[in-house]
Amino acid sequence: MKKLSATLVHKIQLTHDVYELTYSLPENPSIAPWQYMMFQLEPWLNRSYSIASFSWLNCTLIVKRISDGKGSPRICDASIGDIFQIMIPLGHFILKATSIPKCFIGTGTGFAPLFSQINATADMWITDIVAFIFGVRNIDDIFYEDIIRDLGEGFLNFKYEQYLSRDEKDGYRKWYVTDWITKENIENFGEFYICGSPIMVRDARTKLEELGIQKDNIFFEQF
Ligand SMILES: Cc1cc2nc3c(=O)[nH]c(=O)nc-3n(C[C@H](O)[C@H](O)[C@H](O)COP(=O)(O)OP(=O)(O)OC[C@H]3O[C@@H](n4cnc5c(N)ncnc54)[C@H](O)[C@@H]3O)c2cc1C
Repeated sequence: MKKLSATLVHKIQLTHDVYELTYSLPENPSIAPWQYMMFQLEPWLNRSYSIASFSWLNCTLIVKRISDGKGSPRICDASIGDIFQIMIPLGHFILKATSIPKCFIGTGTGFAPLFSQINATADMWITDIVAFIFGVRNIDDIFYEDIIRDLGEGFLNFKYEQYLSRDEKDGYRKWYVTDWITKENIENFGEFYICGSPIMVRDARTKLEELGIQKDNIFFEQF
């Protein structure tokens, strides 16, 4: 783990409260793509963000701006050229380099590590059977839809289901990602990667275990 200066070099507002933020680093910190970095905003204020993608010296995050938050507004409202002190890399939410078909289940800010794990699965050519089950509240909260569909083109069998817990629209599933976890839906998958709110992660793990998935094949991170 290293302490580095990260310079904001690119910023895109993806939705009303989600930002794609790219930072340039002075050296390559040799990260695994699903790890996270921690901003040291003040001596008493550290905030962690998963790395959505990494390319040589550029590191991209997907950050939700919590309007009354202490940290995320400072990160999302920063201007190009602003410099932050960060610790990188951190975390053990590890993608297994196995040929076992993989299912990724997430909500909200849990997007970033799952996105990098799916990218890594494609890059490593380890399995052709992948599912991405992702939930947000409203239609306005959806982002990266086309990017995910393009990513799916790299797999022989890619299932992408987008859930909306508070909206209804053709082509989207209503309610919760945990509703997707049924015997029939999970039968082709052997490893499960879950990231999102503690409640969703708990419910997803419980359902998977009730359906006979061994704990050793369920990997998760919650925040
Ligand atoms: C390992 C790890 C990886 C993380 N990766 C990401 C990531 O990729 N993207 C990302 O956006 N965040 C991520 N987080 C969460 C992030 O670290 C902060 O907790 C989050 O940005 C809120 O910080 P804040 O200082 O703005 O809010 P705080 O001042 O900590 O909280 C303010 C209020 O907002 C509420 N709140 C906190 N988080 C949320 C939320 N997600 N939705 C709604 N209300 C919330 C709190 O309960 C509190 O009431 C990650 C956390 C961890 C531990």
